[in-house]
Amino acid sequence: MSDIRDKMESLISLCKRRGFIFQGSEIYGGLAGTWDYGPYGTALKNNIKALWWKRFVTDRDDMYGMDAAILMNPRTWEATGHASGFSDPLVECKKCHHRFRQDQLADPERCPDCGGSFGEVKQFNMMFKTQVGATEDAASISYLRPETAQGMFVNFKNLMDSRHPTLPFGMAQIGKAFRNEIAPRDFLFRSREFEQMEIEYFIDPKDWEKAFEHFRQEVHAFNGDIGLGRDHVHELEVPDADRAFYSKRTIDFEFDFPFGRKELYGLAYRTDYDLARHSEYSKVDLSYFDEAEKRRFVPHVIEPSFGVDRSLLAVLSTAYTEDEMGGEKRVFMKLAPSVAPVKAAVFPLLKNKPELVAKAREIYAMLKKALGAVEFDDNGNIGKRYRRQDEIGTPWCVTVDFDTVEKGAGVTVRDRDTGKQERVGEAELVARLSGTIS
Ligand code: ATP
Repeated sequence: MSDIRDKMESLISLCKRRGFIFQGSEIYGGLAGTWDYGPYGTALKNNIKALWWKRFVTDRDDMYGMDAAILMNPRTWEATGHASGFSDPLVECKKCHHRFRQDQLADPERCPDCGGSFGEVKQFNMMFKTQVGATEDAASISYLRPETAQGMFVNFKNLMDSRHPTLPFGMAQIGKAFRNEIAPRDFLFRSREFEQMEIEYFIDPKDWEKAFEHFRQEVHAFNGDIGLGRDHVHELEVPDADRAFYSKRTIDFEFDFPFGRKELYGLAYRTDYDLARHSEYSKVDLSYFDEAEKRRFVPHVIEPSFGVDRSLLAVLSTAYTEDEMGGEKRVFMKLAPSVAPVKAAVFPLLKNKPELVAKAREIYAMLKKALGAVEFDDNGNIGKRYRRQDEIGTPWCVTVDFDTVEKGAGVTVRDRDTGKQERVGEAELVARLSGTIS
């Protein structure tokens, strides 16, 4: 247990020290369940989102990108059942008054903090209520969306009318979602404000198994894109009793987080539930006409749902590594180059030699143009610069030394994971590094 805590604490403290992730509103004592991304965290997150968008949207010709509003007409949540049923069981300890999600307690009868007994179980709706406009009446109540999915379903007709896609096709969206979780915990794993990457893939019901299988494999392929090992991802076939009543099949993709095996993503066959309900509540026809078969029906849906922050936590916790190099302990982030916030760092061997600095600046400019996320560093000794780059997961450190400027002997390239250095000619450098990144 303490090993696990230590690893999480070391990871959280590295994230803060190096500017990946900070506690939300920290100077005011924080706000539970919120996290702020700093410069490296933002870059890492953007890289993960870009890889997802590439795989699921731009590399395909059957997917339509969306960016719907977070605030939606509250009828949306009546139609989906969230207004009445999106709740978790809440219990409060009679003695210390701490509150817990009952289904997550090891012993549902005893308070884990003081051993006290609980009052009755209450259903707690997790949607954040807000008020739209200047009047404070029931009609002005709206909610921060608890999932991005509905922003796509309510635009089904707009997409049909503007782009005329034929089945099968999908809508994809990345955006914020909000849930008033009873007990936010485990760093980014369970927060109250987070991001999702979701797809609603519309199909003829007879094709559901093929589409489900396709996305099952694509989920694993995406995990490969961001550097998550297949060994740490496990499929859980959700049993009938635990599945939403409208879902005919659901798989949870679980990941070996430091605090246990927990849900990373979900994949569900949601039948025609969402479109049919929105059609019923909005009185707008959301059916599809199959020209070839002269048949009208409400499309069914396969929904792969990914958490951005959980992906990031999986990536960070897998990457966090402690080892020994040159007789010294070191911490490094073994990030896949595709997601690393900085791809390469360029150093002059010595700061006070203008010819080394000038050459290093030149190489830096060349690499920055080719790779984008490149840093220049001439602070402190070279060992310190390596350690800093190791901690943020930079795959390559490029050093300009006397042989570079005096003999035209190229630069040294140091591999983050092995610490090994190799001389690479200036002319080959861009090709050599870019080949390992994409
Ligand atoms: P859990 O059972 O862990 O509460 P869920 O089954 O309610 O999750 P879904 O409604 O399927 O989650 O949401 C889809 C995805 O959104 C999840 O797989 C996860 O990656 C992400 N997600 C859901 N809730 C949170 C949260 N509170 N914090 C961070 N990510 C979340």
